[in-house]
Amino acid sequence: MSQTTPLAKPAAPRTVIEVGQPRGFLAAEVIEKSGTDLNRCYQCHACANGCPFIRAMDYPPNLVLRLLQFGMREEVLRCKTIWICVGCHTCSSQCPMGIDMAAVMDTLRLMAVEEGVAIAKPNILDFHEEVLRSLERYGRAHKLGIMWRYKVKTRRWLSDLDVGLKMLAKRKLDLRPSRVQAQEEIGDLFKCYWRESK
Ligand code: SF4
Ligand code: SF4
Repeated sequence: MSQTTPLAKPAAPRTVIEVGQPRGFLAAEVIEKSGTDLNRCYQCHACANGCPFIRAMDYPPNLVLRLLQFGMREEVLRCKTIWICVGCHTCSSQCPMGIDMAAVMDTLRLMAVEEGVAIAKPNILDFHEEVLRSLERYGRAHKLGIMWRYKVKTRRWLSDLDVGLKMLAKRKLDLRPSRVQAQEEIGDLFKCYWRESK
């Protein structure tokens, strides 16, 4: 029987560049918020080679880390890549340094929204918001409801229609939403979040 090599465990977050230095400040901020030491990246490109969405990105994921290390806030928060990433973790599973790229991208999306920068892919932000609303309401994602509200918001009625019809035909889209048992507790979590983010 062949033995599999266990994946390298991500090291505890560590700030290599001192906070306060102009170049290191952005990297240090993202390290703290994402819990991922992006300074361990040595630009091997394994993440870019494995990413299934690389063609739609303006910067490959390894270059996003490079921009962060160089403190290029504007470029990184305005780029398409942070919105194209779907957090599939393909890159993290191939990264020799165990860098959690999805956590970095999550952090950058949040920073872009909080800082009010122009979102490179506003429709994707609309979609994210509808997923969150569904989780708040039902405790789980009701795909049909999410797609309906997304379409109303963006008025892109015909995009992905073929995929939607195929999913309906295969009964992959529930007509009615179902709620998890702990829906009330999940709703309370959202209320805390909205309160704190005001
Ligand atoms: S796979 Fe890891 S070490 Fe290699 S470039 Fe990507 S993030 Fe950096
Ligand atoms: S987590 Fe994001 S960057 Fe990494 S492989 Fe998936 S889509 Fe690409």
